[in-house]
Amino acid sequence: MNAPYAKLEPLEPGIVRILAHNPSAFTYFGTQTYLLGERTIALIDPGPDLPNHLDALEQAIGGRFVAAILCTHTHRDHSPAARPLAERIGAPIIGCAPLALKTVGPRADASFDGDYAPERVLSDGEALELDGEPLTAVATPGHTSNHLCFAYRGALFSGDHVMGWSTTVVVPPDGDMAIYMQSLDKLRKRDDRIYYPAHGPAVTNPQQYVRHLVGHRMQREKQILALVREQPQPILQIVASAYPGLDTRLTTAAGGSVLAHLLDLERRGLVGRNGESWTAV
Ligand SMILES: [Zn+2]
Repeated sequence: MNAPYAKLEPLEPGIVRILAHNPSAFTYFGTQTYLLGERTIALIDPGPDLPNHLDALEQAIGGRFVAAILCTHTHRDHSPAARPLAERIGAPIIGCAPLALKTVGPRADASFDGDYAPERVLSDGEALELDGEPLTAVATPGHTSNHLCFAYRGALFSGDHVMGWSTTVVVPPDGDMAIYMQSLDKLRKRDDRIYYPAHGPAVTNPQQYVRHLVGHRMQREKQILALVREQPQPILQIVASAYPGLDTRLTTAAGGSVLAHLLDLERRGLVGRNGESWTAV
């Protein structure tokens, strides 16, 4: 498949997509950066720090005023291009908070961009104005604790909270399944017309899609609970039963998601652990 790397893809008036060349088992064909606005521009998820991608973004901006470089969260496939791009075009980095590593403990692993340093952090409901229209932050923690979606002209830029090609990885300690589910519920109460995720195609039936994601997670939870009720077992054994035929590159991520479910079940008093082994209570 020829993915449209470094190409401008106009999606609708005032919304353009550019795909970065960082395909992987976690990113699908790569990270999709969105350019919003016509006279004034905002970028969402500048992506990894790849010179070709930065060149493509600069070319797409074409000398127009950039009001903000926004990041949905600080995984390495989303935010590292923010600083080099800011330096090239003289625009501020605005959006999600950096992870407060010192105060919240060892939440960040190698997949986090520890260099991310925004000029301004947006909290839930805060908006910028772009070509006379609000561009609003929608706090959606769960995939990471600092995740934001952005709403603009009826579209929701959903980052990794809701993706168009795969379910979202939720890995503790920074990822939290109960909070992730609350953030899905938050989207269910909105009436966005379309989602543009950081990975995969646009979601044109958001309400139905989010209901499907919630159902999928509840099904997964039920399955994990049934497995540990059958017999106490370690996470790897649960992964082997719950994810038959899983791509081996995804075993660790699947283990993380199973752990996220187990921690949620543990908080609700439904499971406990004995060393490596998880058991029903
Ligand atoms: Zn991510």
